[in-house]
Amino acid sequence: MRGAHVQMFAALEAALDHSRPIAFLDRDGVLNMGREGYVNGPEELALLPGAGRSVGDLKRAGYLVCVVTNQSPVMRGLWGLDRLEQIHTALQERLLAEDADALLDAVITCPHRRRDNCGCRKPQPGMLALGHRLLRTHEAPTLVRHQPGLHPAPREDVAWWSPKPRPPHPLDAMVGDRRSDMGAGWAVGARLFHVSAHLGVSSVVNRVVDEQDDGDFFEP
Ligand SMILES: [Mg+2]
Ligand SMILES: [Zn+2]
Repeated sequence: MRGAHVQMFAALEAALDHSRPIAFLDRDGVLNMGREGYVNGPEELALLPGAGRSVGDLKRAGYLVCVVTNQSPVMRGLWGLDRLEQIHTALQERLLAEDADALLDAVITCPHRRRDNCGCRKPQPGMLALGHRLLRTHEAPTLVRHQPGLHPAPREDVAWWSPKPRPPHPLDAMVGDRRSDMGAGWAVGARLFHVSAHLGVSSVVNRVVDEQDDGDFFEP
């Protein structure tokens, strides 16, 4: 299995707007509680407090919201892409139940293990680069944008020792609870917001929408 899995919930023609920044959100520990092991089905999904309202706040502030999540149980053979899509459909429904504006523009998943050496598993930036291409460029045909499934996320050489690169949009942001999230965000030049896995996105959403906030310091 090659490439990253993409699911899109928003009407993309409306979302395609190069002037809008993207808020990249990790999933476990940012939108929902992480678990020992994995979230193995919709019934194991528990939103963190204020997650729906926070996504709504980002959308109302003009951000596109793109979830980027490592889910190696797929390539470990524990469950398949059908289960992954069920979990993310449930995630979207629960966010919308909390806030009618909490529409996710894309949910991108790396299904690989570390040893698969893919371009998408964070801290590699492949999922964020793919999100940028899908949401802000016309590179992908319209049909593909609406089709769930695997999309190429080639491995790129990241110059971790160089200065932080310039982002496609100066307000692009990455919110995560792990160093690998911060690394992936750093590699695309995003503003970085590190959260506690017990608090998640609601603890930083006011900072993300503050254009004066350059995010957290991070050294790769
Ligand atoms: Mg996490
Ligand atoms: Zn991957």
